[in-house]
Amino acid sequence: MNRRMYELGSRRSVIREIFEYGKKRAQQEGKDKVFDFSLGNPSVAPPAIVKETLLRLLQEEEPTALHGYTSAQGDLAVRRAIAAYIEKTQGVEADADYIYMTCGAAASLTISLSAICNAGDEVIAFAPYFTEYKVFAETAGARLVPLASDPETFQIDVSLLEKAISADTAAVIVNSPNNPSGVVYSEETVGKLAALLDKKSREYGRTIYIVTDEPYRELVYGGVKVPYLTKYYKNTVVCYSYSKSLSLPGERIGYIFVSPQAENAKELYLAVCGAGRALGYVCAPSLFQKTIAACQGVTADVSVYEKNRDLLADALRSYGYRLVKPDGAFYLFVRALEEDAYAFCERAKRYGLLLVPGDDFGCAGYVRIAYCVSPDMISRSLPYFKKLAEDYGKSID
Ligand code: PLP
Repeated sequence: MNRRMYELGSRRSVIREIFEYGKKRAQQEGKDKVFDFSLGNPSVAPPAIVKETLLRLLQEEEPTALHGYTSAQGDLAVRRAIAAYIEKTQGVEADADYIYMTCGAAASLTISLSAICNAGDEVIAFAPYFTEYKVFAETAGARLVPLASDPETFQIDVSLLEKAISADTAAVIVNSPNNPSGVVYSEETVGKLAALLDKKSREYGRTIYIVTDEPYRELVYGGVKVPYLTKYYKNTVVCYSYSKSLSLPGERIGYIFVSPQAENAKELYLAVCGAGRALGYVCAPSLFQKTIAACQGVTADVSVYEKNRDLLADALRSYGYRLVKPDGAFYLFVRALEEDAYAFCERAKRYGLLLVPGDDFGCAGYVRIAYCVSPDMISRSLPYFKKLAEDYGKSID
C-alpha cells in the first residue's frame, strides 16, 4: 500500500482527537460539564432560503436532471449566477468559464494547488495556518513552507516573505479571515504582498500564484472589509466554500474562481479542470450546486458569532489572557499560560475546557478556541477560564 496514505489515514488530527474525547467525557459526566471549543462546525442554522430552495427544486425539477451529473466543471447556470454575483459585489471581471464548482474549500485548495504545482515546488503559508495545507500541498507534489506572521497583529510579515521566496516558489496561500487567528489581512498588507510577488515573479522569471482560501469571507464583524485579492494581484485563484457562510459544511459545496486577468488564464482554468479530473472529482453535488445558485448574497445569521467573540474575548482579557481580538471567522487564538500549549490544554481539561494546541497550526505556545457554540455555553464556561488563569497566578480584575 501507499505509505503516505496509510499514515494520513491512521493518524487522526489533534482536533478530531479532542472532539472524540469531548463526546466520551460528556457521556460519562454529563453535557453541562464539558465545554467543547475544538471544532469549527457552524452553530447557527442555515438560512430559511436553503430549505425553501431545496423543497422547490425537489418538487419542480425533473428528477433525472436534478440528481444527474452536471458538466464536470459545474452547471452552467450555476456558474453564471456565481460569476454575476462576484462582478456585482467585487467590481471585478468574472465569467462562468472561469468558475469551477467543487466539494468545498478543501477540494478547491487541493485542485488549485495540483493545477499550479510541479514536483519539487514550494507553497508558502503564513502561520498560524489551517492544518490541512501541508496535506494539500504534498498531494500536489509540493512542499509546504510555513512562515511566521507578525506576533503582535498576525498580519503577514512581508520582509520575512521576501527572504523565503525562492526559485521553487509556485504559490502563496492567503487565508483571510484566518483560521485560527481570526485576523483579516488589511488592504495595506495585501498591497505590499502583491507588489512583492510581482517583483519576485519578474526576478525568478516564473509566475508565483496567490491561492486564496476564503470560507470565512462573510464572517466579519464591525464593518471590516476583506480585500478581494484578484483586484490587487492578477495571478490569483480564489477558493471559496459555502460551508461556513450558509452553514452547510456537510453538503460539500464551493467553487474555484480563476481570475480572467491571470497570465494564460484559459490554460490555468483548464489545468484546474484537469486537476479535478485527476483527483476524481466528477462534478460537485448537483442538488447543492442548484441550491446555492439561489442563495447568492445570503448568509446564515452570523451576528451570533460576533456576540460570542465579544463575550469571550473581553472576559478572557480581563482574566489576564493575551489575544488579538479577531475581526472575522469564529476562532480566538490565545497565548497559552505556559510555554507548552499541550500541557496547558491538559490542565484546561481538568475544568472541562477543550481547547486545541496551536502547534498543529504552526504556532507553538498558543491555543485555538472555536467559539461557534451557543452563547449559553460560553457564559457557563467563563468561571472555569477564570479558575484556569488563577492556577497560573493571573491577577483577576
Ligand atoms: N480552509 C479553512 C481555513 C478552513 O477552516 C476549512 C474548514 O474548516 C477549510 C478550508 C475546509 O472547508 P470546507 O468544509 O469548505 O472544505
